[in-house]
Amino acid sequence: MNFLEEVILKEGQALSDKVLKVDSFLNHQVDPDVMRKVGEEFARRFKGTGITKILTIESSGIAPAVMAGLELGVKVIFARKRKSLTQNEDLLTANVYSFTKEEKNEISVSKKWLTAGENVLIIDDFLAHGEAALGLAHLVEAAGANVAGFGIVIEKSFQSGREKLLKKGYRVESLARVASLSNGSITFTRQTEE
Ligand code: 5GP
Repeated sequence: MNFLEEVILKEGQALSDKVLKVDSFLNHQVDPDVMRKVGEEFARRFKGTGITKILTIESSGIAPAVMAGLELGVKVIFARKRKSLTQNEDLLTANVYSFTKEEKNEISVSKKWLTAGENVLIIDDFLAHGEAALGLAHLVEAAGANVAGFGIVIEKSFQSGREKLLKKGYRVESLARVASLSNGSITFTRQTEE
């Protein structure tokens, strides 16, 4: 079992057989020590692949993305879920449906910070049905940049996201892969054991 799985078992809560609550270290309160280790592990996995930028989405992707950016020595940009008052530049946009919130968001980044020729690592807190991930990949490709891969903190392997991304030929690196949340207990796929 890796460090992240241990934290998830200790602090996570299966709210249903589909939703995992991890608001003690990732989704509300943020644990800098856990995030530092997450950033180091993403950097270790993507070192040597020529990453020039990290893209994530507000708000829970920002902490792990910044820690990975620190380790890889690259800037981090986060897509916004709502338009900001100061965002008056040209925008790249994508539509993302959230199964957890049951709402559609138009996500956006400024063309100024995501440009052609970049090699972009996409980081997010959760991978479920892959909607957010595919929306982020769309932004990268619309900018004329390359998707180097996905760094996911927690993947719910029983949902379709991973398969969708692999089918499109993307590299997916998930630090914890949850196999099941049934009956209130959290189990992991064997691939994440160390
Ligand atoms: P997807 O687009 O892959 O269906 O869902 C990814 C997004 O939904 C993540 O960025 C995350 O914010 C949210 N999400 C999906 N499943 C869960 C879950 O089980 N727990 C939490 N806390 N967030 C989730």
